[in-house]
Amino acid sequence: MGVDGGEEEQIQDPEGSCHERIFVSVRLRPLSEKEVVRHDVSDWECINDNTIIYRSKLSVSERSMYPTAYTFDRVFSSDCHNRQVYEAGAKEVALSVVSGINSSVFAYGQTSSGKTYTMIGITENAMADIYDYTQRHKEREFILKFSAMEIYNESVRDLLSADSSPLRLLDDPERGTVVEKLTEETLQDWNHFKELLSVCEAQRQIGETTLNEASSRSHQILRVTVESSAREFLGNEKSSMLAATVSFVDLAGSERASQTLSAGARLKEGCHINRSLLTLGTVIRKLSKGRNGHIPFRDSKLTRILQSSLGGNARTAIICTMSPARSHVEQSRNTLLFASCAK
Ligand code: ADP
Ligand code: MG
Repeated sequence: MGVDGGEEEQIQDPEGSCHERIFVSVRLRPLSEKEVVRHDVSDWECINDNTIIYRSKLSVSERSMYPTAYTFDRVFSSDCHNRQVYEAGAKEVALSVVSGINSSVFAYGQTSSGKTYTMIGITENAMADIYDYTQRHKEREFILKFSAMEIYNESVRDLLSADSSPLRLLDDPERGTVVEKLTEETLQDWNHFKELLSVCEAQRQIGETTLNEASSRSHQILRVTVESSAREFLGNEKSSMLAATVSFVDLAGSERASQTLSAGARLKEGCHINRSLLTLGTVIRKLSKGRNGHIPFRDSKLTRILQSSLGGNARTAIICTMSPARSHVEQSRNTLLFASCAK
């Protein structure tokens, strides 16, 4: 093994199965009121379940640079509801947690493209289904645990605690990267879950000047761990005990990953370039090409924390959100480029 290799390169895949691809979808939101008022127009259209096209005419020079049609595992037009996006874009991945398989669901896109709107819908629908599953499987006993954190400027904060001091990451030989002192609540019922969500929302707003500025720069991770055991011993330990985690990740605005800034601007705006978001992009591109070789999970806090939900036999879904407005075409193309690299 190479010197800079380390154990992390050895992706553990006990089943020896071929890796699951990352499920990549794109969601177009409706034009916002603001966009309508300033006579912005919608340039994008989903022509079927898999293809989104750029409707306006491309200039000759643009034609050589940009495709007009983009294909993904799924695309969602602006009239799709959260329930549909969840069902077709995230359900299978999120619910693998009840079978003992780690998973993660991400929303990626520029600020105000609909990431938070989408992740709230997905998280609530997934939790409702997880609860439903536990109700229908009385032969097993379930324990659900919830934790929540925010990564802002490579600093990790507990969203369930009033103490906002940064948390350290520790390497545990058995559990991998652990967030030290992170609050983990055992969920009592649905109302308890909703209460904890509002605690997170309140914590997220504290200490930041404006919510939009903070949320455009920070990543939010909501984590649900599902542990279950058979009420009757099933004959082998593996099927009687299961534990896995699903992570719902509302990413910082993708404009923070812009790599098109000139050297001077980059220096000046250094703090705007988000290390976790850039590293996530690299990790996802590499994972989408197969899970062999060096994957730089350790290069950022976000990817360290999510390593066990991204690598190995974990399942991943990414929903890329975009505004249909002409004024955002450049960012929308960046988002589609990211989505294309992830699939
Ligand atoms: P982001 O988290 O990417 O910054 P938000 O989720 O806050 O963006 O969305 C920006 C605004 O657009 C919000 O007011 C939100 O309610 C609205 N919005 C986003 N997506 C949709 C959608 N698919 N349908 C209707 N409204 C949406
Ligand atoms: Mg948001």
